[in-house]
Amino acid sequence: MKSFRIIGNFSLVVCTLLLATNVFAAGGVVKGPNEVAPDRYVYYPGTEVLAKDEVRVIACGTGMPDARRGQASACFLFEFGNGEKLIFDIGTGSMRNINALMIPAEFLTKVIISHLHTDHWGDLASLWAGGWTSGRPVPLEVWGPSGQTADMGTKSAIEGFMQAYNWDYQTRAYKITPIPGQITVHEFDYKAVNEVIYDQNGIKVRSIPAIHTGDGPVSFIIEYAGMKLVFGGDTSPNKWFVEYAKGADFAIHEAFGTPEYFVNDYNQPPQLAWRACCEFHTSGQSFGKIMSTIKPRHAVAYHSFEEAIPDIQHGIQETYDGPLSMAVDNMVWNITKDRIVERMAVSPDRASGVSGPTRQPPPEKGTPDPMSDFIKSGEWGPGFNAQNELLDEFSKKYNLEKMDWRPAKPWYEPSKK
Ligand SMILES: [Zn+2]
Ligand SMILES: [Zn+2]
Repeated sequence: MKSFRIIGNFSLVVCTLLLATNVFAAGGVVKGPNEVAPDRYVYYPGTEVLAKDEVRVIACGTGMPDARRGQASACFLFEFGNGEKLIFDIGTGSMRNINALMIPAEFLTKVIISHLHTDHWGDLASLWAGGWTSGRPVPLEVWGPSGQTADMGTKSAIEGFMQAYNWDYQTRAYKITPIPGQITVHEFDYKAVNEVIYDQNGIKVRSIPAIHTGDGPVSFIIEYAGMKLVFGGDTSPNKWFVEYAKGADFAIHEAFGTPEYFVNDYNQPPQLAWRACCEFHTSGQSFGKIMSTIKPRHAVAYHSFEEAIPDIQHGIQETYDGPLSMAVDNMVWNITKDRIVERMAVSPDRASGVSGPTRQPPPEKGTPDPMSDFIKSGEWGPGFNAQNELLDEFSKKYNLEKMDWRPAKPWYEPSKK
C-alpha cells in the first residue's frame, strides 16, 4: 500500500534527522506528573519572543513544483530578533504553512525571491490578496533579480502579475482599500557578486549568482547580529556559493532527489531525471562536497519530496559528516552565536494569521466602482431586505448609521421593528 510506505518513510526521515544532527532535540527529565517536558522537539507558533541577537528560520515549503497537501514548494521565513521578517521565496502552497504561524499580516510585507520558477514565487498571489483581506495596511515589497533581458526580470514579472490580477486589484481596491494591493519592486542585477541588495534595521542581504536553467537565479547571504546565514535558491554547484557562504553560521542549499528516485517514483524519463538532479540542481553527493568545503555551523538541505530524503541523505553522507538538517515543511531553527536548535512547528490545521495593532485605511474617494448599473439592477430586494434586522443591530452597535448604504437602493424597505 502506497500510503503505508509513505508513512513508514516519513518516520524513517524523522529518525534519521535526529540521528544525523547535533542540534538540541527533545530531552531532559519530566520531574513529576504535573510538570512540563523541559526541552521538546516542538515549536508552538506565537508563544516565544526572540532574543535581540536571535534568528528564527521556518521552512514553510521544501518540496517540488507540484505542491502537495503535506509539502509546499520552496519558502523559508526568516524572523529576526529586532522584529523584521523576511520571506525568502514563496513557492506554491507555502502560504498555508505561513498562515499557520499566526503572524499578523501587517508584519509579512517583504518577500525576497531567488528566481522566477513558480515553485519559488507561486504563492505570492496568496500573500498579496490574503494579507490584503486580513489586515495588511501597506503595500507588499518584493526584491528579485533581473534577467538577461528586461522581460525575464522580476520587475517585468510583477508588472505581469498586476496585469493578470487586475480584476482582483480593481474590485478589492474599491471594496476594501487600494494601498495594500500595491507592490513595490526592487529589482537588482543578477550578476551582482556579494553586493548588498537589502540594508535595513541592522540586516544586510547580499546576492550571489546561481547556475540554474538560465540567467537570473541567485542565492542570498544574510548578515545579522554578527552572524552569516545563507539561503540558496535553485542551483547546481557554483563557485560563488562556495566562496561567499564559507564559514556561514547557517547554510541552506538545495539537494535534489536521486535520478533513480525520479525514474522509479516520479515516472520521469531517465534522460530528464539525471539532468534535473545533477545538471541544473544539486545531488546529495555534490551538496555534501559543498558543505564539507564551506564548513557551516549547520547545513540545511531542501527541495525534494520527503520520501526521497533517505537516499539524498545517504549521498550527502558520502561527502559530508557535519551538522545537518534534512528540511521538511514546518521545521524550525532558532539560531544564535552559541546555539542552533531544530524543532518542528506544531499548530492546528485551522490556525491563521491573527490581527495586528494597525487598522487598514478606508477606501479612497474617487476609486472607480467596478460594477455597472446593469448588474446592480439584478439585486433581488426580498433577499437583501431579509437581512435588515441583522444589519440594523450591527450598524447601531458600531455607529455605522450615517454610512448606511441601503436607503439609496430601489428595493429598500426599512425593517418594521
Ligand atoms: Zn528553479
Ligand atoms: Zn525549485
